[in-house]
Amino acid sequence: MAAIHLQNLVKHFGGFAAIKQMDLEIRDKEFMALLGPSGCGKSTTMNIIAGMENPSSGRVMFDGVDVSQVPMGKRGVGFVFQNYAIFTHMTVRQNLAYGLKVRRLPPKEIEEKVAKIAGLLQLEPYLDRPAAKLSVNILQRLAIGRSAAVNPSIFLLDEPLSNVDAAFRAVMRTELKHLQREFGQTMVYVTHDQLEAMTMADRIAVMDHGLLQQVGSPLEVYNNPCNTFVARFLGAPGMNLIAGTVIEQNGSLAVDCGPAGRSEALPAPLAAGLRKAGAKEVFFGVRPEDLEFASEGGAGLSMPVVFVERIGPRAILHLAAGDRTAKIVSENLVAVTTGERLRLVPRPGRVRLFDAGSGRAIL
Ligand code: ATP
Repeated sequence: MAAIHLQNLVKHFGGFAAIKQMDLEIRDKEFMALLGPSGCGKSTTMNIIAGMENPSSGRVMFDGVDVSQVPMGKRGVGFVFQNYAIFTHMTVRQNLAYGLKVRRLPPKEIEEKVAKIAGLLQLEPYLDRPAAKLSVNILQRLAIGRSAAVNPSIFLLDEPLSNVDAAFRAVMRTELKHLQREFGQTMVYVTHDQLEAMTMADRIAVMDHGLLQQVGSPLEVYNNPCNTFVARFLGAPGMNLIAGTVIEQNGSLAVDCGPAGRSEALPAPLAAGLRKAGAKEVFFGVRPEDLEFASEGGAGLSMPVVFVERIGPRAILHLAAGDRTAKIVSENLVAVTTGERLRLVPRPGRVRLFDAGSGRAIL
């Protein structure tokens, strides 16, 4: 068992609150990604779990036991940093075996474990090479392997792929997931790269300015962002948030987005949520891949194209009407040109509304 519970965590550096308040439960054997922009407090959170930093207040619990005062070496966590710490005078095999030797495992067991890790991380061809001669990609793979070899029940990785090239990063995403499944570790993974978080994590903890914004499965946080920060931060491009005013329309509610047009009648659950919240000024939220072209006439947003960004077969259309902007992602936008006015409707069930004042989702 290796569940982690951060209780009421606060961390100050002098007068600066790097973690303002945080309560997070990470389940046993879970792959949890801490995701957020630079400076949001991800590494600080990780360092506190590892025992490299002490919290200003709050507690770190492992399986219900308070480890806040337990020194780093005694917490039983493996830690891989952005800047790998490898013994360059040793071979790959010696590096992988190092932690196992320190723990005085029998040579046969060491040999078996090294072989297993080398297999999982495709390090076999390099086993007898000196670490000093390895490429950055292989060095990072070795750093992960060396920490994984001792099979810590909690494995912490802080931006482990930020120095490796894009193609290798894609391979490593799959390998890390395999590694975690194989060893059954609780993995906490710090990244500012949403693709890494989305592809590997069981759950994602989205952070901003020293506060947890939302915790949920990749699809939950993507489809149902709890506020405008998460809506914008996730997705490439992020969710369209078009400012509008709630209006009565034929017994239902709709959103008037000024020069960008007005929405169709809102689905009943959203209208009910709006009435309950009493919100008047809102952001009409829809993901760029969820906006569809509609025929002329009738309700729907209506905005001119200001820029067409082509990425191979895919295109991102940039639209603007007054101060309202939106983007559409489509796989097939051959005929659209700059200046053309498009009428758009969201795919059914894909609209989110946010209170313009608080930024919180209206449910
Ligand atoms: P990055 O991806 O850039 O590392 P992060 O989300 O991991 O960002 P942290 O490294 O946790 O962020 O830092 C959070 C904030 O705390 C930053 O503003 C950082 O400058 C500050 N900070 C971190 N460590 C210290 C320290 N030892 N002394 C003072 N300020 C610190």
